[in-house]
Order: sequence, then structure tokens, then C-alpha cells
Amino acid sequence: MTKKEKYSHFENESGFQGLKVNDGIAQPESVNSESVKRFLNKNRNLLPAGDYVEGILRGDITLLSKAVTLVESSNLKHQEIAQEIIKLCLPHSGKSVRIGITGVPGVGKSTFIEALGSYITQQGGKLAVLAIDPSSERSKGSILGDKTRMEELSGDKNAYIRPSPSAGSLGGVARKTRETIILCEAAGFNHIFIETVGVGQSETAVHSMTDFFLLLMLAGAGDELQGIKRGIMEMADLIAINKADGNNIEKAQLAKIQYKNAIHLFPRKDSGWEPGVLTCSAVRKSGIAEIWNEIEKYRQLTVANGWFDTRRNQQATYWMHETIREQLYRDFYGNQIIKHKIEEFESLVLNNQISSFAAAGKLLEMYAEMKLISEDRKINH
Ligand code: GDP
Repeated sequence: MTKKEKYSHFENESGFQGLKVNDGIAQPESVNSESVKRFLNKNRNLLPAGDYVEGILRGDITLLSKAVTLVESSNLKHQEIAQEIIKLCLPHSGKSVRIGITGVPGVGKSTFIEALGSYITQQGGKLAVLAIDPSSERSKGSILGDKTRMEELSGDKNAYIRPSPSAGSLGGVARKTRETIILCEAAGFNHIFIETVGVGQSETAVHSMTDFFLLLMLAGAGDELQGIKRGIMEMADLIAINKADGNNIEKAQLAKIQYKNAIHLFPRKDSGWEPGVLTCSAVRKSGIAEIWNEIEKYRQLTVANGWFDTRRNQQATYWMHETIREQLYRDFYGNQIIKHKIEEFESLVLNNQISSFAAAGKLLEMYAEMKLISEDRKINH
């Protein structure tokens, strides 16, 4: 229909003498069609949760990747499907060894992951490489788990590499990674690597979702214990001194002795495991089998003494509490009324009209009351 036909009026035809109806003025559409299109596009390719799960259990990497994208999305509809997928995958998860790998940038993490990862897949293992990268939120791009850095593994059909989810707080990113572990395990990946940079908080998050924590270090960087925090060294189940090649071999051997002496002084681990120090060259692929043997020994020891399961149970409850903490925090600080009240109370605190603790108590009381009222409304409707 042409525009002219669309707006023509039969009253203006010759049979209706004396009548004249003017053309109307086209009105803008009441809904913004662009945003509707965007919404439909976003959701058009969504499948029912069961379809993703079926694909994941078949080991279909495309569907696994799509499901992980839903896990990482903050869109409510996506989250709803993601949670359903996770629930259905949960009974098929858990059968893997989860290894955290950390070290300062440049220590050789991605080269090492290529070396150890290929070693694992050559032995028939299936490996998923995930990452937690706290810097990715700022830089809007992940520096870890980047496919281009791991060319050998990214062409390996038994390996799956997923860069760090880039949006949200460390807690949020960590939760998404933990949920991704479940999906990868359900897809048959029996080895999970979680990579992170050795700069601070993210290690604790990685440590709390892995069975074994491997710290990569360099030799001969001045004071041997510089660069990495003592707390991170204490978490390590194994320290591997990388780049033990060429004329660096001697220095690496020396560093090995120094680190051995250092970790000897740390408190004993609940796992009953005594962390060791080894040297390796990720580039030359030397010392890799020895590192894998250590991980295997650790697994055997901790499965036998029950620590493996105890720790996984501890982690499961830890993440339940972490998620509660994170959601309460977001809900409280995201509440518009509370936001205003916080400003009010801040100035009262600053003017010494109320103590910090009493102010916090009042704000929490208001929050709890608001929650009660909204629950009441839900029940009465
Ligand atoms: P990441 O930042 O910790 O992931 O480190 P990369 O794996 O990107 O490695 C940083 C640099 O160190 C690269 O130029 C690597 O080629 C080099 N590198 C990594 N492992 C070794 C090694 O075992 N020996 C030597 N000589 N160089 C290495």
C-alpha cells in the first residue's frame, strides 16, 4: 500500500459531494520499535534449558559456549535459563580435578598452561581453561584465557578455553566462573584450570573453587620472596619455578632451595599435604610431567584421607554464603530509598548526632521493614 492509499479517505470520492475529509497526520508508534527489535533479537535464539543441557551432556562445545554466555549475562531472562541449566547439569558435575594457576604477569602462565594442558590431553584427558581476571572490568577486555595466547590448546578438540567474564565485581565474576565449572564438568571436561594473575584478592576466589593451587614463580628477581604476597605462597600446594632453561637453570635451582626453606616455615596444611617446589621450563616443556605427578599424588592422598570431599563441601557452603553476601549487598545499596537515607545518615554521623553503629543499625532496620512490607504486599495480592 502506498502512503497516499494508506491515508486516502473514501468520503473524498466523487459520490460524496460536499464532504471533505483532510488527511490525518501520521502519529509516531507508541512503542520504540528499535528497542523491541533489540529485545527480540537478544532473545530470539534462546532455546529451552533442556536443549542446552542435552547438548552439554553430549559434549557439544557450541551449545556449552552459548550456555556459558547465558551464565555470564546480566539479562534477567538469560539468568533464568542459565540457572535452570545449572540445576540440570549439577548432578553430572564434580567429576574433575580443579587446578588454580597463578603468578605475576610475564611469569609464563599461558605458556605453562599450553605445556601442561597438552600433556594432559595427550594422555586422553579433557581440559577446560577458565580465568578470573580482576583487571578485565577496567580494561573492558580479558587479558587471561585469551585464545590467541594458547594456539596449540585452542586447536585441540579436547580443550576448551574460555576468557574471563568481564563484567561485574570480583564476587560476581567468581560466581560466574564457578557456575561455568559445573557446565564444563557436565560436558565431560575432567580437568579444569582456573587462571588468575598473582596480584591480590582474585587468588582467594580461585583458591576457594579449586582442589589444587599452583603458584608459578621466577628465579633471580632480586629478593626471592618479593612480588608475591606471603598469603598467596601459603595457599600454594606447589610452587613451580618457571623459565628454568638456558643460563637460568642454576638460578632456578638456587631459588628452589630458597623457596623450600621458606615454605617449610609455613603452618601445616589441613590436607596433610606438604607443598613442594619444582622447576620447569614451559617453553622447553621440561619438568611438566614431574609437576603433573605431584598433582596426581596430591589427588590420591587427599581422596584417600577424605580431604578432597571435605574441601569441596566446605567450598560449596562457602559459595552459598558468598552469594548471599553479594546479593544482600547489591539489594541494600541498590535500593533507591536506602540510598537517600544513607546520605542523610552520613551527615548525621559526620555531625556527631548519631554513632556509626547506631546509624548502621537504623538503616538495616529500615531495610528489613521495607522488605517485610513488600513481602506482605506480595502475599495479599
Ligand atoms: P603470562 O603473562 O604469565 O601468561 O606469561 P606468558 O606465558 O605470556 O609468557 C611471558 C613471556 O615469557 C613470553 O615471552 C614467553 O615466551 C616467555 N616464557 C614463558 N615460559 C617460558 C619459559 O619456560 N622459558 C623462557 N625462557 N621463557 C618463557
